[in-house]
Amino acid sequence: MKIGSIINGRERIEDNRQTMTVYNPFDNEKVAELKLAANKDLDDAVTSSFETFHSMMKAMPAHERADILRKTADLLEGKTEEFATTISKEAGKPIKYSRGEVARSIQVLRFASELAKNITGEVLPMDAAIGGRHRIGLVKREPLGVVGAITPFNFPLNLSLHKLAPALAAGNTVVFKPAEKTPVSAYKLVKLFQEAGLPDGVINLVIGTGEEVGAPLVTHDHVHKISFTGSLAVGKNIRETAGFKKVTLELGSNSPNILFEDADIEDAATELVKGAFSFSGQVCISAQRIYVHQDIYDAFLGSYIQKINALRIGDPLEEHTDIGPMINEEEAKRAKQWIDDAVEKGAKIEVGGERNGAVLTPTLMTNVDENMKIIAQEVFAPIVSVIPFKTEEEVIGYSNDSIYGLQAGVFTNDINRAMRVADRLEMGGVWINEISTYRQDNHPYGGVKQSGVGREGVKYAIEDMTEMKFIGIKIDQNKQ
Ligand code: NAD
Repeated sequence: MKIGSIINGRERIEDNRQTMTVYNPFDNEKVAELKLAANKDLDDAVTSSFETFHSMMKAMPAHERADILRKTADLLEGKTEEFATTISKEAGKPIKYSRGEVARSIQVLRFASELAKNITGEVLPMDAAIGGRHRIGLVKREPLGVVGAITPFNFPLNLSLHKLAPALAAGNTVVFKPAEKTPVSAYKLVKLFQEAGLPDGVINLVIGTGEEVGAPLVTHDHVHKISFTGSLAVGKNIRETAGFKKVTLELGSNSPNILFEDADIEDAATELVKGAFSFSGQVCISAQRIYVHQDIYDAFLGSYIQKINALRIGDPLEEHTDIGPMINEEEAKRAKQWIDDAVEKGAKIEVGGERNGAVLTPTLMTNVDENMKIIAQEVFAPIVSVIPFKTEEEVIGYSNDSIYGLQAGVFTNDINRAMRVADRLEMGGVWINEISTYRQDNHPYGGVKQSGVGREGVKYAIEDMTEMKFIGIKIDQNKQ
């Protein structure tokens, strides 16, 4: 399969382009050959999105935008298996999780379709201000123009839709730059939008590298907003170079999960296996640090080890596989090196820690501390650490001792403690009796500290992808 950028409805796959190959990270089977976009293609894509916004999209009625989003959802639902298989092949994600990603993507499109018809403003009580009598104040929400959407490899379909669907619902056009490691589901998604009736030029897809097309998209004068999901390093660079554009950054974390002494140990252990190891820990809110009250530490650890040992490692396309490869061998080597580094500093491997190609076995570490990369940095691999604690105060301190603050999980049956802790955790979101890794597509989602800026979750992304406009009217009291 040969794929290229889609600009103004036309695919650019001429042979004189640089190529890149996408391989299945599990068996190295060739998945697609990419014809990469160059700087000139990026410029054409922005121009097309800019012109389409002014000539058409700005004026497209809400019911038409809603219809296109709903039709795309229906088409995607009919192709669930094709999309799930594509994600599993290009990202190495176990098929059951890929199917889950497609199901969520369909929901995101449906949420956006419903919300497209409900972008409302307000009427202000202008006479609240001295001298404001006989005036009407209206606040409307308007689309921004061109949204640059830059996405990572780990949820190639759903995280793309968290940008594209609200952008279209709000009446924007988009230049879409998916991760070059996993662009095939993104390419197929743009084709679905076309099939659903989206006019040419509303979404322009650029398949290329971060350096060649991502960076110039961020600095382009005709782009009004950058919505980025990815690593901290690239996020920082975007923040520094985007100029006056609006910017949403969805970055990484080293999410804490806290188990107090009254937690349901079995339930928490079962959920935290998924929380730490689904898609080999390559999830931004993956459970990375598990703090367990000392009274239940041994019981939890015993149960957790047993459950981790029961995970089935193998081909992501097999129905029963729980753990597949990481995104590539380089990343698996990097993660293994972080494990070795922690062991040198005194950590103990309780389970796992072995690498075979791009597969890293699910790894549980104890005896860890904040000087180890597996605690201090975002591990983004199937590695989790279990750490005992004594008091509420102490565990809040441990949890907040991080440059990140995305989501946390707190397990307790004491509602007063749950709410006290939730209030004091420096996070964008806190789950009580649920793992940090759980996310729904309709709640505000995003980080504090270096986990990011702005919020997604369809309604909240729409807010970030529109601008308020105030219109005031002075009513003449004398004219008849
Ligand atoms: P990455 O930062 O390497 O790449 C993300 C995207 O940025 C890719 O499309 C890439 O081509 C592009 N890019 C690279 N350099 C660029 C530049 N200079 N200018 C503009 N774009 C550039 O991230 P990744 O490895 O694909 O994804 C993993 C990271 O994403 C992790 O840190 C993870 O925590 C984060 N993530 C965050 C969330 C969230 O919602 N907070 C969700 C998923 C992933």
